[in-house]
Amino acid sequence: MSQIRVRFAPSPTGYLHVGGARTLFFNWLFAKKMGGVLVLRIEDTDQARSTRESEKMILSDIQRLGLDYQEGPDLGGPHAPYRQSERLSLYADYVRQLLEQDRVYYCFCSDTLLTQKREAAMKLGRTPHYDGTCARLSRDEAKARLARGEKAGLRFRAPQKTYILQDHVRGRVEFKEGMVGDFLVTRTPGDGEKEIAEGIGFPVYNFCCVMDDHLMEMTHVIRAEEHLSNTVRQLMLYEAFGWTPPEFAHIALVLGPDRQKLSKRSGDVSVYEYVEKGYLPEALLNFLALLGWWPPAGIKPVSGHPEVLSMSELISNFNLEGLQKAPGVFDVQKLQWMNSFYIRSMPLAEIARRARIYFERAGFDLGAHSEEWYHQVVEVVRGEVTLLSELPQAAHLFLDATPHLEPDAKVVLNEPSSAPVIEAMVAELKSASGPLLIEEVDALPKKVSAKSGVKGKSLYMPLRAAVTGKVHGPELKLILPILGRESVLKRIEALLSQSR
Ligand code: GLU
Repeated sequence: MSQIRVRFAPSPTGYLHVGGARTLFFNWLFAKKMGGVLVLRIEDTDQARSTRESEKMILSDIQRLGLDYQEGPDLGGPHAPYRQSERLSLYADYVRQLLEQDRVYYCFCSDTLLTQKREAAMKLGRTPHYDGTCARLSRDEAKARLARGEKAGLRFRAPQKTYILQDHVRGRVEFKEGMVGDFLVTRTPGDGEKEIAEGIGFPVYNFCCVMDDHLMEMTHVIRAEEHLSNTVRQLMLYEAFGWTPPEFAHIALVLGPDRQKLSKRSGDVSVYEYVEKGYLPEALLNFLALLGWWPPAGIKPVSGHPEVLSMSELISNFNLEGLQKAPGVFDVQKLQWMNSFYIRSMPLAEIARRARIYFERAGFDLGAHSEEWYHQVVEVVRGEVTLLSELPQAAHLFLDATPHLEPDAKVVLNEPSSAPVIEAMVAELKSASGPLLIEEVDALPKKVSAKSGVKGKSLYMPLRAAVTGKVHGPELKLILPILGRESVLKRIEALLSQSR
């Protein structure tokens, strides 16, 4: 079998949407699994909406996700260029072929006229197909009108017959005869656009997509289900050129919590925002993969959780059969859960490295501490957060020299039994010097209890409150060695003074 070739073909009209990221990821997984090639193609023929800015954002978001491709606008490759706006002259020859074979005709109907026709057809309860006005013009008439300076696009004569698609997700899809009317393959150029060749107009998505998928030798097209209605038009074009179409997999929609197509209204939708907020790309991708794909039954991921799959597990288990027909609902709570799972289980040094920027943004000077110390801090607090960006807040205790006493901790410190406990703790800490080692910390509660005569909750609560200013948080025996003797004593003093 020839090498698998797939593509991700974004239109650069904004940031990379999580839905787009999922499409990209499925293509990426399939290419990796099959030892194939992933092509990044920029579909920027809608020049009024496409920007280089957006293309840059999409490229950097792909990088942010840690995904790669083997051919693309920035990498080049055997089928360069990979931006449709740079392939215009290539398309011209194929448009001419269609013209020579009378598969297309000049259409002089303006957008306004077409809208009127569409509305009129809909009022009559008819499918708003193009009504064929210009299909009946002779070539000579058309030429004369062009010579008079009238503007035209080229419209494809849609064969009136049923098309069948064997889709990897949807199964057998039947496009009934008459579903699609004659459609444009080129349009009149817009502002700042030029005809790709005289009398040929400017090519549109459906046309360019087929040309490129064919010329770039795509074996599979994995894309969103909303393109199904384009697919039938594209099948017609493959047929007109006598080309074999690629295999298709139309993946189900991603819905928001409101069960509508996921959009800005229902929350964050850009990859950039998620990663900035402190979602790990690995967690986001794992989550997105399961939003529309299901691994084979019975697999046992190393994580111990059936839904937490490592990148290599995702690759080795990926198959088109696992793609689901039903739409996936973007459940942000599940994503948060998954993110916290990844934060807890990723190698500590890696989490610490990625979290550093958030500490800096929060204004903490990590330079004052050793790397080892910083790692210890992250280790102690990472179980408490959902996002990387929450780590500085969770680690506040270790980084802030002026602790703050929370009201419920103040209540604890003012219990009558608390004073002897804290006094005993201070005395114990002062009875030794040097770093606070685990062994000393382990022995501390017993000694304090013996000295103060207090046990259980009444012992532990004031100890915690006096050191952290809070009644909840990581275990005290994890906190104390990181803070160190001096700092613990200073904190107790500061918090006690706030309790009075
Ligand atoms: N440029 C199209 C989009 O961004 C992709 C179409 C396709 O994958 O064929 O939706």
